Amino acid sequence: MIKVKRDFHPSYLTPTSKAALTAEYKTNGTAVWNHSAIREPLLAMSHNKCSYCETILTEESKYMEVDHFLCKADYPNHVIDWYNLIPSCKRCNVTKGDHNVLTEGMLIDPTTDTPSDHLLMVNYRIFGKNALGERTEREIKLNTSKRLVMPRMVVGEAVSDALREVKENLEEYINVKRTRQRKLKVLDGLVNILEEALPNTAYSATAATIIACNPDYVWIVDAMNKLGWWTSEIDDLHHAALCQSLA
Ligand SMILES: [Zn+2]
Repeated sequence: MIKVKRDFHPSYLTPTSKAALTAEYKTNGTAVWNHSAIREPLLAMSHNKCSYCETILTEESKYMEVDHFLCKADYPNHVIDWYNLIPSCKRCNVTKGDHNVLTEGMLIDPTTDTPSDHLLMVNYRIFGKNALGERTEREIKLNTSKRLVMPRMVVGEAVSDALREVKENLEEYINVKRTRQRKLKVLDGLVNILEEALPNTAYSATAATIIACNPDYVWIVDAMNKLGWWTSEIDDLHHAALCQSLA
């Protein structure tokens, strides 16, 4: 789970349209939030990912559901409230279900909370750092083995392998032969790894956590600093990637 920036408000949702849509939901049970003027900006703000588990929603066999943070069952007046709508996968939406965050325990709202303040990842599993994090992991079942832990492991192991390769290329540059080709290989490799942890990639919190905790990465950063290769561009990418970390 990473922070989702809600920096847009659809013009489709005016006080008048919201009142009419809320009335329509209350009368007919119509899924009034399933409108492209709502769905498209929701997908855009979460980088096409589920806001809870970070699975990509535009892949084959997956699609976005709109989760109501204040559940529809108890808060029908908020069914079309923009700030109550969370882009979610079917699994997370169904698992959270009608959990009432105000009476049954608050959960992390990734659009207002910073998940890394409340969650920790160890061995591809997510743990709460506090009661809010523990409850969120428990209620949304963020450690489903096949569906979530295994995909995180695939991402994490690929990042670890890629970091080892960059380290070996850098060692060769330092100890064997300082060619421009080797330097470019190291720089391209490192940029590719850091880009895996940017908010638009699946399971970016996992990639960021693995990078942040990996001794090879610490070695690479140190060696690049000594060589004068740690540019402001790479430093910006480093910070943009590692702020997703749940380390
Ligand atoms: Zn999900």
